Parts: sequence; C-alpha cells; structure tokens
Amino acid sequence: MSDPLRAQAPHVSLEEDATRTGKDPASVRRGFLEHVRYSRGKNPETSTAHDRFMALSLAVRDRLAHKWVKTARTYYEKDVKRAYYLSAEYLLGRALGNNLINTGMYEAAEQAMREVGVDLTTLIEMEPDAGLGNGGLGRLAACFLDSLATLAYPGMGYGIRYEFGIFTQDIVDGYQVERADEWLKFGNPWEIVRPEKAVPVRFFGRVEHHTGADGQRVARWVGGKTVVGVPFDTPIAGFGNNTVNTLRLWQARASEEFDLLLFNAGDYERSVVEKNDSEVISKVLYPNDAFQAGKELRLKQQYFFVACSIADIVRRYLKGHKDFRDFPNKVAIQLNDTHPAIAVAELMRVLVDEKRLQWDEAFHITQQTFGYTNHTLLAEAMEKWPATLFERLLPRHLEIIYEINHRFLRQVQIRYPFDEERLRRLSLVEEGAEKKIRMAHLAVVGSHSVNGVAALHTDLLRRDVLPDFAAMFPERFNNKTNGVTPRRWLSWCNPRLAKLITSRIGAGWEKDLDQLRKLEEHLDDKAFHTAFREVKQQNKHDLAQHIQDLRSVSLNPNAIFDVQIKRLHEYKRQLLNALHIVVLWMRARRDPSTIVHPRAFLFGAKAAPGYQQAKQIIRLVNGIGEVINSDAGTTGLQVVFVPNYRVSLAERIIPAADVSEQISTAGWEASGTGNMKLMLNGALTLGTLDGANVEIREEVGDENFFLFGLTADEVIARKKAGYRPRDVYNSHQELREAMDLIASGFFSPEDRNLFKPLMDNLLEEDRYLVLADFDSYMKKQEDVARAYQDHDTWTRKCILNVARAGIFSSDRTIKQYAEEIWRVKQIPVDQ
Ligand SMILES: *Cc1c(COP(=O)(O)O)cnc(C)c1O
Repeated sequence: MSDPLRAQAPHVSLEEDATRTGKDPASVRRGFLEHVRYSRGKNPETSTAHDRFMALSLAVRDRLAHKWVKTARTYYEKDVKRAYYLSAEYLLGRALGNNLINTGMYEAAEQAMREVGVDLTTLIEMEPDAGLGNGGLGRLAACFLDSLATLAYPGMGYGIRYEFGIFTQDIVDGYQVERADEWLKFGNPWEIVRPEKAVPVRFFGRVEHHTGADGQRVARWVGGKTVVGVPFDTPIAGFGNNTVNTLRLWQARASEEFDLLLFNAGDYERSVVEKNDSEVISKVLYPNDAFQAGKELRLKQQYFFVACSIADIVRRYLKGHKDFRDFPNKVAIQLNDTHPAIAVAELMRVLVDEKRLQWDEAFHITQQTFGYTNHTLLAEAMEKWPATLFERLLPRHLEIIYEINHRFLRQVQIRYPFDEERLRRLSLVEEGAEKKIRMAHLAVVGSHSVNGVAALHTDLLRRDVLPDFAAMFPERFNNKTNGVTPRRWLSWCNPRLAKLITSRIGAGWEKDLDQLRKLEEHLDDKAFHTAFREVKQQNKHDLAQHIQDLRSVSLNPNAIFDVQIKRLHEYKRQLLNALHIVVLWMRARRDPSTIVHPRAFLFGAKAAPGYQQAKQIIRLVNGIGEVINSDAGTTGLQVVFVPNYRVSLAERIIPAADVSEQISTAGWEASGTGNMKLMLNGALTLGTLDGANVEIREEVGDENFFLFGLTADEVIARKKAGYRPRDVYNSHQELREAMDLIASGFFSPEDRNLFKPLMDNLLEEDRYLVLADFDSYMKKQEDVARAYQDHDTWTRKCILNVARAGIFSSDRTIKQYAEEIWRVKQIPVDQ
C-alpha cells in the first residue's frame, strides 16, 4: 500500500487509546473531559449543559467509531449481500440514552458524570428528538434499523436529512399551533458529513433518442438542472454486539457548475436565488400522515433521495463487481411505502441508459432487487402523480414507466384476453380528466415481494386494495407483521420494569424477546404482583410530575391512566374517546357513584396543519379537559392533552399507562405499533379487531383484551346496508345528550358554534362509524373500570400481556424480512 496512513492505522492500538474506546467510568470521564476541552473549547467549569451533552455524545460516538469502520470493512471484505431500506421518514427520537443502552455503558456513563458533578439525565434531556417522520411508518423504520444492527445483518438505511423535522406542537387556548422544528440549531453530534461521496441529481430537461454504435436505441436525459445530494452518516449500534450499521441521509446542495454558469454570465443575484431553490428540497418534512398532498416539492424530495441512494448503491456494487447479473445476489432494496417507488424507474434508467443493459435483463434485475411494503388502505394516502408533472420534472422516468406499463399490460392481455376493465384497473396509468401515475402499481410491478404490515391488513390488501395484482401474482404477496424494538421500548424507557423482569428471568430477553414467556411462571406469584404494581405506580408518579410541570394539572396517581397517543386522524377515532368522556362526566355529575374508579384520560397527538377536522378534535379534547378537570374532585375524571407528542414523550407516557386505546374503525389501521409498545409495558388494550390488535388478542387470549366494535367485514356490510348515524343518535339517550352538549358550545365558550360542524358530520356522514361503535365501546369501558377494581386479576392480565409480547419484537419482523424477502445473512463483526 502506497498510502502511508493505511500503514499507520494498525499501530494505534485500542488499549492505548482508552480515552476513545474504554467503557469503564474512568475512561468515559477522560473521554468526556477531553471533548469538553478539545471539541467544545471550554474549561469544564465554564461549559454549559449543552457543551456537556455534546461532549458526552462525542465520547459515546468515539466508542462506536472503531466498530463502525470494522463493520464496514467486514461487509466489504466478505462481499456480503446487503439490505437497503429506503424510507422518506425516520422517527428516531433521541440517540444518547439508546446508544448508552446498546453499548452497555449506561452505568459507566452515569458514574463518570457523577464523578465530575454532572447529572446524566439532565444531559440526556438536552438532546432534541430527531423527528424526521410523522408517526408509525417513520418509527417502524427506526425500530428496523435497531433490529438490523442487533441481529448483525448488513443493513443500511437511506433517507432525507430534513433541516426541519415534524413541527413542534404548542397548545394555545386549546388550539394546536405549529412551530418549526429546529433540531439542528445547536449541532448534531451523531452525524458525519461525507462531501466526497456527494451525488449529482438531475431534474427537468429533455430526452434525446438515438442509435448507438452497437445499433441499439439509446436514450439520453440531458439539460435541466442539477442538484447535489450530500450524505450525512449516523451510526446505528446493535445491542450487545460489535455491529454498527449506517443510516445515510441526503441533504440537498446547489451544484457549483450550475451556479458558476449564471455567475459568469454576470447574473450573480439569480445564481444565489437558484441556489436556494435547490436547497429547499431537503428543507422540511411534509407533516401529513396517511395523506398525499400532491405537492411538486414532495415528488422532488422523493426522486432526490432515491436517485442519490441508487447511485450510492450502484457505486458500492461496482467497487467489487462488473456484471450486473449478480446485482440481486448482493443488493436487496426495500421500499417503505410508495414514497421511494420511483426507485424502480431510476434503477431501470441507470441499468438501461447508463450501463446499457438490455431492457428485459434490466427489468429482471430490478424486480429481483426490490420489495415493496404497503402501509395503508386509505384511498387518500395512495400516491398518484399527474403525468404532466412527471413529464416536466422527470421526463425519462415517465418514458420508462410507460414502457414498463406497456409490457406489463401486454402480459395481462395474454393472461386475460378481451378484459378491458381489468387492463384499466391494473394499469400504472390512471386515465381520467387528468392522467396520473399510480405509484403503488409501479411498486408492485417492479418488485418480487409485496407485503402488508399485519395479518388482517395483508388480507385486506389482497382482497380489497390490489385484488387484480393478487390474482395475477399470488406468490408475490406476503405478510410481515410490524414490531417494535425492545431496547428503546422497554430497556431504555422503562428501566424499572426491565430490572424487575431481569430479576425473575435473567438477562437475555433484550435480544430474544420470546424469553418473556418465562414470566408466566410468576403469573400468580404475589411478591411479583406487588413488585410489578409498584413499578407501574412509580412510573405513574413520574409522569404525573412531568405533566404537573408541563400543564399544571395534578393527575391522581391512583386513577386509571387511560392513554390514546398517536397521530390525530378521524379513522383513529379520538372523537369516540372524547364522546365517551363527556358521557361519563354527565353521568358523574348526576350521580358520582357511577364512576367505579377514578380515571385520567391522556391524549397525545399531532394533527396535520391543513387537516381542519383533526385540529378541531384537539380543541374539543382541550375544551373537555378544561371543564372536567375543574371538578375532578367530585367526578374522579381528568383529561389531559399532552402537547407535542413525539418519541421522547412516548417514552415517558407508555411505562405509566394502564389502558391502551386502540380504537380505530376496523379495516383502517394497517397495523399500529403503539399498541405493541403499550402491551410490552404492561398496559391492557381496549381495542377493535383492527391491524395488529387482532394478533395481540390472539396472543393474550380474549380474557386479557378488551374487545369492542364492528369487525372489518361488518363495517363494510353496515355501510352497504345504508348506515344512518342519526338513527343511532336518536336511539341512544346518553350519546345524544353528550353530542348536544358539545354542539351547544359548552366546551368552546369562545365560539358557541365551533363544534357544530363536527357533530353534524357525525350525524350526517360518520365515515368512520363512531356512533355505530359507541355503545359497544361504552360497555367495554365499564368492563375496564370494573376489572381494574380487582387488583390481582388486573395485574395478572398485565403480566400476561408483557409475557406474550415477544412476537411483537421488531427482531422477529426483521428476521422474516431477511429470510423471506431479502435473503441476507447475519454477518457478526469481530471485536
Ligand atoms: C409508535 C409511535 C407512533 C405510532 O403509533 P400508532 O398508535 O401505532 O399510530 C406514532 N408516533 C410516535 C412518536 C410513536 O412512538
């Protein structure tokens, strides 16, 4: 090797460099103090809490660094097949605490900080959440990264480094007010920018067709403008192993050549303006959950990160390979929903136009490479882009999509002759007033695997959403029920419960969550019951303290903590919960003895800024809280809307929850993962037969799950029979009184008519069958209250829920993806 640095590297021994690598308290302390001085340029005594957070994070990053390079080298030298996860969202939350847990150095860090008079918890609280996602879909991607690294899979995430993540939610006079999430304002200690790996991305321009020297037709995409993608890498540490994988997020930067062109032409001002145009691409996360707004900038974001990622993947492949026929043996790419579905056309463009492969061969490679995960059945979430927009922004991709469609529809014609309707339904192009490209169809046709995220969801996907595709390619469809990482969602967020579990079944469950089954040996162990209840009680005290600080409401820690935390969406039916609270309160006002047990209802939810109905529901919950909390002394009822629901807030609420509200209209929630986190932390589910609730109930048994409501099939039948919500209203006195009270303006003194439209909509349309399920919900809530009275039976149910949560580890999910879709192997990394 001519590179002198390379020759030097082995001489730096890890033992000599304990300040960077040692995980004992003394080494951590030294590493921390060196970063205070040399990275922050401060004396310890003048360093701020933020300096100290940065210094400790950098010290932790040091301890990941050598494993990180070792992991990269291992994958490269072994020439392993890699799984690439393409996702427009990663809802990571905070990293410091999680990295301390996964590297096994939490106690050492705590001691090291104590020795220098610093409180570790205070530092951990300094970190802003990395909120690069909206909700479940983005959080799933984050859990998957944790599981990939923990299981030693060669996996890598690709996404967008949004300068502003999901907005910060303030509640002002009961209304949601959005603020920009400036998560990078004080710097991000975890990422490393790699400008040398920047990738140019073209937009607009035109396509030239000509015949090459070999007589083949060639297309060339030329002109337009170029934006540069700059990668920022974040280490993803496995739990208790040496694997450190990479999350690579792309930031948009103006291309220099382009700027120079204008600059040299004397148009300095325009060159700067255009620079801004380019850089807005990675500026902000679109704050919609399960809804497509159809904005041009959003399509630009999608193509931007997909083009960068595909170029990066192809570059890495070509370091060790020449022949693209081997590509699917080295590369698996998973599309997290249709947000990155343009990758199908992009890989085809690279293979056919740039690498000059034959179409058929390129398409075979493409199909063998991609897998597609569907995340929703909601029609308004299905991504469709106007062909005119595509033609302007990505002219070559539109041609490629038309060609894929042409060949695909020919296949359909041969299989189903004279079936024009079927062709219309299957086409990648939706004809109509405006021609549109159906991204889900592109993803299905371009992949060898299509999966739903819970058993029921996959069934409905096959039956109702993509039936023609399921008929044509039955082998392509499969289920991968979602999961959550037990490191963040138990070890980290609920250390008391984690410790109690370990005291009974030993360590090891963190990496093999099925071991929680061993808790069943303690189901009727009184001492364990007492300890379990004590943990929940302490967690409730902690949360009550936090809410006192945040909202100046004193929660009764002996109340049932009934929580609904998730994005605000009509299908999730926060309104059903709210209506029930009003009914309970009206009853309690007449006769306080109707309240079997005090109850604190907790809500956490962001509404998309443009989703008016959802924002009104937030206002309603706050209005109800205002009224109800004022006479909690007599009714025992409390309602708190906790602002700015996000990962770090979920980590506080979930360990304190008694009841998990999973009350979506059956058939609408693809899976849910909040349901799993709550189950894992010993909350009992009150839920419909929707998403993964179905599987949760199967695991714990009907007696340990509070089931209510119509089934997905009954929902369809009820609508088909002509659902009349007003009939329900007329026949249910308590419901009617509650709705009338809300409509009268009782909870919105500033505007008496505020909630009238919300109530009118329930009476006239009620798309999500809130009224149809109301009575069933109310009765099941009564069962919940009665069941809570019986401490031992309740605790037994909670323990059983924890014991049966093993299957909902994202480790199980990732193993299934790895073995059944990606065909990647575990590659442990040596010390
Ligand atoms: C888990 C999680 C979600 C998903 O919750 P669901 O109840 O499954 O919709 C959303 N947001 C955050 C912050 C989460 O941690």
